[in-house]
Amino acid sequence: MGKAYHIVDHAFDVIVLGAGGAGLRATLGLASTGLKTACISKVFPTRSHTVAAQGGIAAALSNIMEDDWHWHMYDTVAGSVWLGDQDAIAYLCHEAIPSVIELEHMGVPFSRTEDGRIYQRKFGGHTTHCADGEMAARACAAADRTGHAVLHTLYQQSLKHKAQFFIEYFAIDLLMDEEGSCCGLMAFSLEDGTLHRFRAKQTVLATGGCGRIYESCTSAHTCTGDGGGMVLRAGVPMQDMEFVQFHPTGLQGSGCLITEGARGEGGYLTNGDGDRFMPNYAPHEKDLASRDIVSHAEGVEMREGRGCGDDGDHILLHLEELGDDVLDSKLPGIVETVRIFRNIDCRKDPIPVVPTAHYCMGGIPTNLHGEVIDPHRGDKNAIVPGLMAIGEAACVSVHGANRLGTNSLLDIIVFGRAAALRCADIIDPNSDVPASPKACEETILDRFDGLRHNDTGENPGQVRMAMQKVMQDDFAVFRKEDTMQEGIDKLTGLADRIDNIGVSNPDLSWNMELMTALEVQNLYAQADVVAHSALSRTESRGAHIRDDYEERDDDNWLKHTVAWRSGAGDIEIGDRPVRLDTLRDDADTFPPTVRKS
Ligand SMILES: Cc1cc2nc3c(=O)[nH]c(=O)nc-3n(C[C@H](O)[C@H](O)[C@H](O)COP(=O)(O)OP(=O)(O)OC[C@H]3O[C@@H](n4cnc5c(N)ncnc54)[C@H](O)[C@@H]3O)c2cc1C
Repeated sequence: MGKAYHIVDHAFDVIVLGAGGAGLRATLGLASTGLKTACISKVFPTRSHTVAAQGGIAAALSNIMEDDWHWHMYDTVAGSVWLGDQDAIAYLCHEAIPSVIELEHMGVPFSRTEDGRIYQRKFGGHTTHCADGEMAARACAAADRTGHAVLHTLYQQSLKHKAQFFIEYFAIDLLMDEEGSCCGLMAFSLEDGTLHRFRAKQTVLATGGCGRIYESCTSAHTCTGDGGGMVLRAGVPMQDMEFVQFHPTGLQGSGCLITEGARGEGGYLTNGDGDRFMPNYAPHEKDLASRDIVSHAEGVEMREGRGCGDDGDHILLHLEELGDDVLDSKLPGIVETVRIFRNIDCRKDPIPVVPTAHYCMGGIPTNLHGEVIDPHRGDKNAIVPGLMAIGEAACVSVHGANRLGTNSLLDIIVFGRAAALRCADIIDPNSDVPASPKACEETILDRFDGLRHNDTGENPGQVRMAMQKVMQDDFAVFRKEDTMQEGIDKLTGLADRIDNIGVSNPDLSWNMELMTALEVQNLYAQADVVAHSALSRTESRGAHIRDDYEERDDDNWLKHTVAWRSGAGDIEIGDRPVRLDTLRDDADTFPPTVRKS
């Protein structure tokens, strides 16, 4: 079937799939080294989800108060509930300082202190003196539009370095040869439907998270985790997928995010009795405790009948006391979002919020350099030749069981840069670009063509809604064996419907239904992996909270979950050790202990 298509051939040293913060930081690094690089994106670069990041990017700059990158490291390790790899976390927190200064020099318009330094605000889980001191002001912010500022600057810098872009191209699948090396990917142009074969010495996946597996999430509609879908089909595993972060302040109804920076500026939460409940759960950090702790606390308040409103189904966030100066200069986007989506004036009235799916801590397993790991190929750190992953698509892992706010913008910048440096180290510009594996090409085209011509199949949007509902009902903030097993049965029951997805029109120009069909298949594969990984982990840690296993169990579970998927419900679960050493002489390690808040 596939042979009917004319395919445009491209050869590069590196292709970067994704033009969010991670993809653009890698692209501009690669372009400046002179490697022949292409960046491919299904949306215009500055519409990637990074643009929606609000609160800030973490770095221990000490602009407002005393700070230290070791304290940042401690907070990240404790926030990850010791599931983060400490070599990667040490690298992240150490590199944070030069990376943010580099962003400033590239032109990111950060908010400023009175003496002209980068403005920094408080954020959940960030403390001083390893949680013995006060909360740290570590989040470098451009008002409440930090991602917007960062993404636009990175795109401008990429253009300055003459990076080559393929914009509004949708990648379908990886080109994997018989030895299991990645040789590039197949994509199609959304505009004219032409098929493109991108061959490359390294393929860097920077495709973002898969938040859209849930019904209510803060992520853009584009966050369908396409890179995850592609690696699972290629037989490569995903890691720690049971850890999905629920943000405590999603706007009730639409799920729009109200940044944690709102609490960093002094906002607070109350329950249906009008009480500030967070001091009962986190006496030291209170409303600025880590997200897993605040979301769980909100869930408990609502479950025990102390929710707000007639149905007791939300919590209230108060910004009324912050005053016009703070709201206008530091949180203007929040004031606008709340007005547009709920018709509430947050200067006068509290905001109804609920825990909302926000971030995937899990992803494609990689080492510090962004190289993808597959333990099936040798030892537990064996790499997949030719394939890298960065940003929310990847699991390095710096976030472990729970990500601290502002550490993701940092992750995408630091590891986007690291991947570019690695490519410069290992790629010989004079070597040949690999040929395309024909058998793999045929398989990809058959799937594409089958979807495109299945005009009797089910509408992709319908199946997606059914899947999202299962995930929302059975794999959200509270989890237990029987409901998760029911959820898995319901998901497996959707397999035939997923296989039978079709599109009403085979046109190739701007066929959004066809793109949605491909995205839904990617989402479903990852929902399946999240569900099985969650059922297998019989403990509570960070964002993975089980009613039937309430305690953290380091003896049995201080390890990463690794999951391979062969088909619907056919998941093999393995594990990898967590790295508790840092590879640096100048960094302490933080052995597992009780969390202080
Ligand atoms: C509302 C919101 C607010 C946030 N606020 C903060 C914050 O203040 N601080 C913080 O640290 N973190 C924040 N985060 C998290 C952080 O913004 C994201 O984790 C991060 O920006 C992800 O960046 P990325 O480059 O990995 O992916 P994205 O920005 O999601 O980019 C993915 C890219 O991949 C491309 N792509 C995907 N699939 C395909 C395909 N099949 N073919 C072609 N292209 C494809 C897309 O076009 C896009 O360019 C926030 C997240 C949300 C949702």
